[in-house]
Amino acid sequence: AYSQQVRTVTLIPGDGIGPEISDSIVKVFEAANAPIQWEERQVTAIRGHSGNWMIPSDAKESMERNLIGLKGPLKTPIAAGHPSMNLLLRKTFDLYANVRPCASIEGYKTLYSDVDLVTIRENTEGEYSGIEHVIVDGVVQSIKLITDTASRRIAEYAFEYARANKRSTVTAVHKANIMRMSDGLFLRKCREVAENYRDIEFTEMFLDTVCLNMVQDPTKFDVLVMPNLYGDILSDLCAGLIGGLGVTPSGNIGTGGVAIFESVHGTAPDIAGKDLANPTALLLSAVLMLRHMQLQEFARRIEAACFDTIRDGKVVTGDLGGHSKCSEFTEEICRRVKDL
Ligand code: NAD
Repeated sequence: AYSQQVRTVTLIPGDGIGPEISDSIVKVFEAANAPIQWEERQVTAIRGHSGNWMIPSDAKESMERNLIGLKGPLKTPIAAGHPSMNLLLRKTFDLYANVRPCASIEGYKTLYSDVDLVTIRENTEGEYSGIEHVIVDGVVQSIKLITDTASRRIAEYAFEYARANKRSTVTAVHKANIMRMSDGLFLRKCREVAENYRDIEFTEMFLDTVCLNMVQDPTKFDVLVMPNLYGDILSDLCAGLIGGLGVTPSGNIGTGGVAIFESVHGTAPDIAGKDLANPTALLLSAVLMLRHMQLQEFARRIEAACFDTIRDGKVVTGDLGGHSKCSEFTEEICRRVKDL
């Protein structure tokens, strides 16, 4: 029924449960007849001639060609001697924005219902610039770097996202009362960009107030945009509101049209290879990817099949309170998506 141009997406299955949950997404997309063709690539840290760490060139070239990627969790062994794989990917493709929609899942009970918010985190600078040094013995200085360019870029992304996803409000989260210059600059850029998006409401809130209000009533929030560290913490907090990292999707937006969508949980070595993993986070990340690619109808159908399966509660994985295997949960979603 659907005649659409097939697009190629780079699939990085990852480690641990990565291959199992990736396989699940491939099956669901097949059942939904989604116009996506996968190009599978392994990502490991390799050493270049000059001693610098990088990702394999076939993976890099695949991403540069396809621009869009879907990625499972990657392990970073302690004492591996190389930076985390996620950091390498971020640097390679200048993934400057991390987007995490957090929406309550019907049938998966948590302390809150009707949460529907999105955190947008600046992912290249701020407190994570990696500029640290010893001043004198016993005194260490760490630099929070905030630039005009990166602040404007993340603010623009947040407003574009809000517009494209029919969101009404963008809230800048900051501590400009304390960090007057750095957060002050970030906030000023958000205000400037807001001027160009009069159809979207713009508000500003202190990080501490956001935390207080978030646990009292998270349903009050819409799109939140913030510098790196605040985003790191707040995005995990928000994932907790809807049931944790096992059900939270995420997207990383880079320069030049690159975007990598990924589950935010780890490789779950304790259950890897046992067909017990929950593929929901990666599947919802793939749904986010479809929306990013303007394939709204496929996104809607796959998301509905996943949510219907969870709401029904009969065929769900252990972490969702059920007794089903990853493959059984996947088959149930496939069965439903065909009928939608
Ligand atoms: P983890 O997320 O892998 O596991 C924490 C707990 O959550 C485990 O009990 C695990 O079984 C469970 N869990 C996680 N995802 C699940 C899923 N989809 N379904 C069911 N249960 C799930 O965290 P960890 O143990 O701290 O990390 C293990 C490895 O993962 C490390 O090597 C770490 O570097 C890596 N890691 C990768 C990423 C990433 O690539 N985005 C993120 C975090 C950790």
